[in-house]
Amino acid sequence: MRREIHMFFLPFLAHGHLIPVVDMAKMFASRGRSKESGIHIGVELLNFPAVDVGLPEGCENVDLIPTSQDGNLEMITNFFQAALMLQQPFEKLLQGRKPDCLVADTFFHWATDAANKFRIPRLVFHGISYFSFCASECMSLYKPYKKFSDIKLTRNQVPDYVKQDAETNSTKLLKAIKEAELKSYGVVVNSFYELEATYADYYRNVLGKKSWHVGPVSLCSGKNIDKVERGNKSAIDEQECLEWLESKEPNSVLYICFGSRTNFTSSQLKEIAMALEASELQFIWVVRKQKNNEEEDDWLPEGFEKRMEGKGLIIRGWAPQVLILDHEAVGGFVTHCGWNSTLEGVCAGVPMVTWPAFAEQFYNEKLLTQVLNIGVAVGAQKWVRLMGEFVERESIEKAVKEMMKGDKAEEMRNKAKALAEAAKKAVEKGGSSYSDLDALIEEISLRSH
Ligand code: UDP
Repeated sequence: MRREIHMFFLPFLAHGHLIPVVDMAKMFASRGRSKESGIHIGVELLNFPAVDVGLPEGCENVDLIPTSQDGNLEMITNFFQAALMLQQPFEKLLQGRKPDCLVADTFFHWATDAANKFRIPRLVFHGISYFSFCASECMSLYKPYKKFSDIKLTRNQVPDYVKQDAETNSTKLLKAIKEAELKSYGVVVNSFYELEATYADYYRNVLGKKSWHVGPVSLCSGKNIDKVERGNKSAIDEQECLEWLESKEPNSVLYICFGSRTNFTSSQLKEIAMALEASELQFIWVVRKQKNNEEEDDWLPEGFEKRMEGKGLIIRGWAPQVLILDHEAVGGFVTHCGWNSTLEGVCAGVPMVTWPAFAEQFYNEKLLTQVLNIGVAVGAQKWVRLMGEFVERESIEKAVKEMMKGDKAEEMRNKAKALAEAAKKAVEKGGSSYSDLDALIEEISLRSH
């Protein structure tokens, strides 16, 4: 019989990293021996030294880092400094507990050395797709943005940190991350083979990386209660949300959410509101701005909410995204193409309007619109950290209408539904991700202690 193994997970403190790592821990634990007694997951707390590095007290998520007036995240460097300071206390923990394996987020580059000290294999979790891995790797190998101005991914859509020649804090961090990855045991990917087989093969066989795909990890949340509590406290009551959705026809509602980091300006939000009204579609729109007293928000056109009563629902704050996406009333998703959201959209079997802003989101857009053919691009042309580029209402309206009821809408929806089926199969017994996770657990359990 296979030896029971003890895994350690070290997630980075950002929703888009923390959520999938917690899901992944659940996936590993669900393969444990004692299924009848529930899954066994313990939590160890480390003190995040925010104040020591000049961050406000309690600033323990990148989401909470104060921005300067022009929207810059100058204090991100302090945040990474605090993350670096976790190495010592974490090593103590490893020394005391000696897990069989450590899955640590890519941003904790020091985790490889820490684990190697105690001969613990360290797996890297990046939180991105195979497609993005391949695109970024080829980008840094061949630097096509220097030679061509007319490739399908334009120079403007290439992340700033890729194009930088001079050494900066981010290029230094990326270098450390790369070096740590080379010394680590391998990479775990939140994806499934059938979704991006060509790129999974390229990553393994051509780029020569050892990796296991174990996703989509969001599928570990089967029950509504898990979906509601996923990631953060929901700003809307579960029943209210479900009742609203129940009152709508299948595939008739548009869901709009830009993840946990993108912060649009008031004028961009107003533009979205106008586009939604003009589209005449029903929608749930997640906005990260809170309401100012009882007055109408300055970013909404006058009387907007009144006119949209029953037709559109605005959630201010955190939405139970997977619960909403999985509801049959939802027929399309306007997304910023964060990898988790992209994959959650795939699992829900909905076509997407792609509106990338920064990070590796433009790569995910290409995957959705040009490889999988289940996306309509809103037309964002420029990589702008945290903010995205301004997109005009006509483009938004055109894209959402095309996705929900254009000539290709049905074809896209069918493709999306087929991918959702494939995703579910991948994590079921005998599926590609199920088997890869099995192979990984087997390999770890066979290692001598
Ligand atoms: N999310 C959510 N409710 C929200 C906003 C985000 O549940 O109101 C979740 C979403 O389901 C996803 C994660 O937060 O799992 C965001 O990750 P993603 O990679 O899509 O984007 P990021 O926030 O990292 O830009």
